[in-house]
Amino acid sequence: MSLLAAMSSSVDDRPDLIRVGDLSLSRSRLHGLATAVADDLHGLDRVAVETTPTMETVVGVVGALLAGTAVVPVPPDAGPREREHILRDSAAGALLAPAGTTPEDSPAADRLPVVPVDLGRVSATTHPEPGPERTALILYTSGTTGAPKGALLSRGAIATCLDGLADAWAWTPDDLLVHGLPLFHVHGLVLGVLGPLRVGGRLHHVGRPQPERYAAAGGTLYFGVPTIWSRIAAASASARALRGARLLVSGSAALPTAVFDELTGLTGHRVVERYGMTETLITVSARADGPRRPGAVGVPLPGVRTRIVDEQGRDLPTDGAAMGELLVTGPTLFDGYLNRPDADAASRTADGWFRTGDVATVGPDGWHRIVGRASTDLIKSGGYRIGAGEVEEALLAHPAVREAAVVGLPHPDLGQQVTAYVVGDGVTGPELVDFVARHLSVHKRPREVRLVDALPRNALGKVQKKRLVEG
Ligand code: ATP
Ligand code: MG
Repeated sequence: MSLLAAMSSSVDDRPDLIRVGDLSLSRSRLHGLATAVADDLHGLDRVAVETTPTMETVVGVVGALLAGTAVVPVPPDAGPREREHILRDSAAGALLAPAGTTPEDSPAADRLPVVPVDLGRVSATTHPEPGPERTALILYTSGTTGAPKGALLSRGAIATCLDGLADAWAWTPDDLLVHGLPLFHVHGLVLGVLGPLRVGGRLHHVGRPQPERYAAAGGTLYFGVPTIWSRIAAASASARALRGARLLVSGSAALPTAVFDELTGLTGHRVVERYGMTETLITVSARADGPRRPGAVGVPLPGVRTRIVDEQGRDLPTDGAAMGELLVTGPTLFDGYLNRPDADAASRTADGWFRTGDVATVGPDGWHRIVGRASTDLIKSGGYRIGAGEVEEALLAHPAVREAAVVGLPHPDLGQQVTAYVVGDGVTGPELVDFVARHLSVHKRPREVRLVDALPRNALGKVQKKRLVEG
């Protein structure tokens, strides 16, 4: 079956099947435009794509996939260093960008020949479907813990992941998917664009993920990252407009339980949370036909297996309490990092399981809770192991706290000291320390609370704790 199975079916040719901002295309029009791009790529191995949230980006990506050319998404707001790293590391041979793009519009156009995406030109050439082992995307990780690494994702892994999600979320051609996510990560690009082109149904990308735009779109299925869901919950009229939806889905970072509860109150929906990584695609999710639990990310998708292990690699009990590194294996794993044999070797155990670098608990019923990242979210203080997320949740329960990030900073006696960065009004650090002490055991109480104007976040709203730790 074709990776973009719904694109090659002739059943559904509604004129507004794919909408990005104010532009809409039918399936056959998108196919014709993308085929013209595929013709121009002439079997090129890898192509960079400037991923502004526009129809040209969707047409360009689909065109490259039709041609069997691996897509290297370039974040439109990437700084010169990140851009240089991605272009150099990936060795992309050309840049796909809207017709007329100059180096002023895209600095990458300075270095690479531009293959124009022209929304006025269609072709009907037939390009043979590449095999499932072929690389579809070279996706760079978010760079939360180090320099972004290029993950090689095959067509087969992507197809399998999307089929698993269609099953878990009861996603069908009757759905209208709405989101406003960036198009250079798994969430916005693989799930948010390739998803509807494989599963079927309509897509409306709203450009920027503003609550009013989500509210006005009238979707059945909504994707968002926690910062978007938190903004929607705060704009209660927009949240209420989502009552008619079928399913709200959150991922990319932990959804605070307070936001989950507010959304339930306003929309009547219990948000489906799911967990994944660039390297593994989505591996764990709550299901449309099953329970949803605040603070938990669900059960493994079809074909995925997981384990939790201690620092010596020994299996830990799945009793819902033991915290260990989450290992995963299954059909949606990547084929390795580009040019990084060191990172590749470090990312797998001797028996081939992928090390997520995340710490989790697994309950007897298979439900997973993500404690956080082993590198920054598992704080070792005075002989205790403290999950940053639990302390963040306790802080967020205070009405004056809007955002919280907890890290372990070096401490001469304790090893690390629990330190909280908080965005909030009308509250002092010592008041918050007392507040947390009333809810959590004493060793989990922050030694220090630093009130700040904003937390450092990336395009998906992930807190860049590395920057907090490095100061
Ligand atoms: P880098 O690997 O470059 O440091 P990154 O890990 O942030 O960056 P991604 O692959 O985009 O890059 O993000 C995957 C990570 O996001 C996971 O390892 C996990 O820490 C986090 N994550 C994703 N979904 C969830 C979720 N539902 N709950 C908690 N954390 C999540
Ligand atoms: Mg990572």
